Amino acid sequence: PTLDAIDTARGPFARHTWQAGPILAGTASPQDPAPVTNPADPADSPGTVAYASPADVNTALDAAKPWDAPASDRAKVLNRVADLYEENYGELFAIIHREAGKSVLDAVAELREAVDFLRYYAANAPEGQPVGTFTCISPWNFPLAIFTGQISAALAAGNAVLSKPAEQTPIISHLAIQLMHKAGVPQSALQLLPGAGEVGAQLTSDARVDGVAFTGSTETALKIRAAMAENLAPGAPLIAETGGLNAMIVDSTALPEQAVQAIVESAFQSAGQRCSALRCLYVQEDIATPFIEMLTGAMDALNIGLPWNLSTDVGPVIDQQAHKGIDDHIQQARADGRLIHELNTPNAGTYVAPTLIRVTGIGDLEREIFGPVLHLATYRANELDKVIDAINATGYGLTFGLQTRIDDRVQYVTDRIHAGNMYVNRNQIGAIVGSQPFGGEGLSGTGPKAGGPHYLARFTRHAAPQDG
Ligand code: NAD
Repeated sequence: PTLDAIDTARGPFARHTWQAGPILAGTASPQDPAPVTNPADPADSPGTVAYASPADVNTALDAAKPWDAPASDRAKVLNRVADLYEENYGELFAIIHREAGKSVLDAVAELREAVDFLRYYAANAPEGQPVGTFTCISPWNFPLAIFTGQISAALAAGNAVLSKPAEQTPIISHLAIQLMHKAGVPQSALQLLPGAGEVGAQLTSDARVDGVAFTGSTETALKIRAAMAENLAPGAPLIAETGGLNAMIVDSTALPEQAVQAIVESAFQSAGQRCSALRCLYVQEDIATPFIEMLTGAMDALNIGLPWNLSTDVGPVIDQQAHKGIDDHIQQARADGRLIHELNTPNAGTYVAPTLIRVTGIGDLEREIFGPVLHLATYRANELDKVIDAINATGYGLTFGLQTRIDDRVQYVTDRIHAGNMYVNRNQIGAIVGSQPFGGEGLSGTGPKAGGPHYLARFTRHAAPQDG
């Protein structure tokens, strides 16, 4: 990959460098700036980030003030933020490509979802009393959409927000906060504290914080819950959206082309870096041989390439550390003789090729492998209940997919699977703000579902304690 490709593809922001850092309603004394990396191109850096210091977190906590304005005024400002996002799409896309390594398709979906969250929470902005000061902690894999969703819900309800974006994607969050302030969100109601987990830890263990909205791994959510229990007021809400070990069942009546397309999209789009992504596929034994042949053929047709090229299906994974974790898993499968299929990767950048690995069942997966790696097991027609039990036994409950043409089976299986979001005869990624909200059960999150009618209630005081 070369920077010239960015020049042709992305125009004015192809070589732009941004400076990200704390945005406080007070004086900042951040740490020294460090370069931000481009996952697709080790020769490129989209800019620098200065992490918030512990003193900055303290300043922000002191300065935080709930947004004291009628709900209708807050709604107007949030709609204006949505307009500004749409007007600034070129710059937002360039950052999403160069900082997060996300493809053109992903960048479009990311902006759309962020705007949908803003407009949905604006339209439903509650009049009730805000909880107070909310810490919002977001992951790198939806660096604009999830970041914006948490913040806009908290602001719609009138809270003060202390935002801690993922360390891998500080630039997009910096620009987003600038646009929110430009639209009219008061500085004291919205501050940005970029940094690593330590900043998040400080922001979830200070008694001046009244609630936490978190999206990220289950491990981090458990740490946050423990820190809150020790330091925050009893009843301080934690809204956590976490990881998944997501399965799909394909029975012998499924339409093969439809199922293969759904699987490829669910497992490999966004380089598998979606919480909703398909991790373990169960194929009925009777059809397994031709089905696997079709699936590996479809994998071969995927374009692995630069995020900003329109023809790219699969971009890089976020960074070296993620790359190593996924690659170790693939190497182990290779050593065990369980690799069914893999593609070649580009030489530069942190790419992992789409890979298919054989397992005996979902119980073989010890953790969420957050990359373009799909695991495949087969089952016999009389083993459906066993498969359902194994999926439920993981303890996660984020997404589940089913491919079948038997109506009774749809009812039977979906009645028994524990998962927040079920998808039948389609891919199992995505949500629709408003009509198809997104969220998990068990180890996958606390609920209520983001972009749904109950979510905003958690950000208001009257609903917070009893809505656990
Ligand atoms: P992560 O848990 O490593 O980090 C998430 C955020 O938590 C980051 O901002 C990080 O700096 C912060 N953090 C780390 N340690 C902390 C601590 N001790 N206290 C407070 N904050 C801390 O997750 P990630 O790698 O950024 O994101 C990928 C994970 O997110 C995957 O597990 C994925 O499934 C999950 N995810 C879930 C959803 C959902 O809606 N359920 C959506 C997207 C991602």
